[in-house]
Parts: sequence; C-alpha cells; structure tokens
Amino acid sequence: MRIDLHTHSTASDGTDTPAELVRNAAAAGLDVVALTDHDTTRGYAEAIAALPEGLTLVTGAELSCRIDGVSMHLLAYLFDPEEPELLAERELVRDDRVPRARGMVAKLQALGVPVTWEQVARIAGDGSVGRPHVATALVELGVVPTVSDAFTEDWLADGGQAYMEKHETDPFEAIRLVKGAGGVTVFAHPGADKRGRTVPEAAIAKMAAAGLDGIEVDHMDHDPETRDRLRGLAADLGLLVTGSSDYHGSRKTVTLGEFRTDPEVYGEITRRATGAFPVPGTGGA
Ligand code: AMP
Ligand code: ZN
Ligand code: FE
Ligand code: FE
Repeated sequence: MRIDLHTHSTASDGTDTPAELVRNAAAAGLDVVALTDHDTTRGYAEAIAALPEGLTLVTGAELSCRIDGVSMHLLAYLFDPEEPELLAERELVRDDRVPRARGMVAKLQALGVPVTWEQVARIAGDGSVGRPHVATALVELGVVPTVSDAFTEDWLADGGQAYMEKHETDPFEAIRLVKGAGGVTVFAHPGADKRGRTVPEAAIAKMAAAGLDGIEVDHMDHDPETRDRLRGLAADLGLLVTGSSDYHGSRKTVTLGEFRTDPEVYGEITRRATGAFPVPGTGGA
C-alpha cells in the first residue's frame, strides 16, 4: 500500500485542481491520498467526484497555528467538515489571509516591487491565498527565479521584509476543535527549521498530553538526523509517525508519493477517526 497523507490543490496553494490531484495520485501509483489544503475543505467535492477506482481519499486540512510566537501547521484528518466550531475557526483563519496578503503586497510595493493585489488574486483564484501565491507573482515579475527563492529574509520568510502575520490558532485549541469534530491530528513538519523557528520538544510533549495523535517525520524539509530525532521523540511520547510529500504541484519540486506513511499507522488513524470515513474511488468523472 502506497499512502501519501499531505497534499495541496488549487483550493489553497497547490497548482493541481482537486480533480487533477487525484488523477495524478493514481498515476503515481498511490493507493491512498489525503487532501490537506490550508485552512479549507473546499476541494473535497471535486476530488471525490473525480476519484479514480483503486484510490482512496482521506479528507483533511492543514491548519495554521501559532504557539509562543512560532508558526506551526497541524494536519487534521477525517473530521466532520460541517462541525460548526471547527468550521468557524477555519473560516476565520482563511478569511484573514486576504487582508494579510494585501498587506504583503503593500510592503512589496514599498520595497519598489511593481506587484499588485489583482495579480496575486488572479494567481490564487478561489484558493485560500498564501505566501506561495505572492511568491509566484514575484517569479512572474522576474524578482526571484523560483517560489522557494522568495522565502528569504529579503522577501517572504517568517519575519522577512515583506512578511505579515495572519490569524493563527492556538494548537491546543486546534487539537480540541479537531477532536470535537471527530478528527485526528498530526503535527506537520515539526523539524522544518529552514522556514523559521521550530516548536520546542517540551511543547510537543504538552500537545501529546493534550491529545495530539502523531508527528510527520518523513518530509523533504527534514534531514536524516532530524528524522531520527523525531522518531525517537514519537516513541518517547507514544505518537504515531507519518511520512508524506506535502505536494504542491509545480510550486515545489517534491512528487506525489515521494514520502509515504506506513499502512499500520494509516490503519490506526482511520480507527481513531469518527468524523468522516475514507472515500473509496468509484471511477471518477
Ligand atoms: P502561508 O500559509 O501563506 O504563511 O504560506 C505557507 C506556505 O508557504 C506553506 O505551504 C509552505 O509550503 C510554503 N513555504 C514555506 N517556506 C517555503 C520555502 N522555503 N519554499 C517554498 N515554499 C515554502
Ligand atoms: Zn502550502
Ligand atoms: Fe505546512
Ligand atoms: Fe502543506
């Protein structure tokens, strides 16, 4: 079984539509793929309608959180997308991305970059708008060669010259909300130190005590030493270990299924979840 539990579509900052994503996942030989767009579930319907036979969809989201001033991402799986408390928090975070992206455009203009909100809005379409869309505008303008090159102190990295914070949820509150909606939580790329400060292990231990289910260990942003350390931490804290691509289509170099989750861990995630069931493909549209 080939299982990839972290991907993005055009519902947030990926470049495949949800339909393209599930077709590409099947073509990549995956048996299970999770759709985890940033702070939104709006890609689900299209992904389910297009889901090829033999591929199972795990519905999810990647929730933007912050603890002690450090931004972090919490993957949430198989929660009830209609549960009102979690839905309200997701909408709050997603909607606050718009004034925040406009603010980053204004900062870039003040730095002399001729980017406009209209350009960023066109790139984002109806997806949850984020820094990768602003970064794509910078690539289009020839300011930086690639999306990754926009994530520096000069531009959009955490604390960078054109960076702006957005509303982000306290992770303990997010874990409580996801559990309340029947979902399972996995701390995404906890050792991705190139993106900025990371969350200390003591705080991860507190999250484990508060009901965090797992941590993402096999991820392109973790070097081998970081993976070993995180695997040890997961064993100490009794957390599940996942691995996933964090696929963003052409906005990142990683391919679907490049990192994967053990079938036993996947089984445990599905056993713990009560908010939604994995969706088996029926052939698609
Ligand atoms: P935002 O949620 O708008 O703050 O943007 C976060 C997104 O930026 C995440 O999906 C990351 O995948 C992406 N990102 C963060 N750092 C980098 C980087 N160094 N290169 C490419 N994408 C990045
Ligand atoms: Zn993203
Ligand atoms: Fe992330
Ligand atoms: Fe992600």
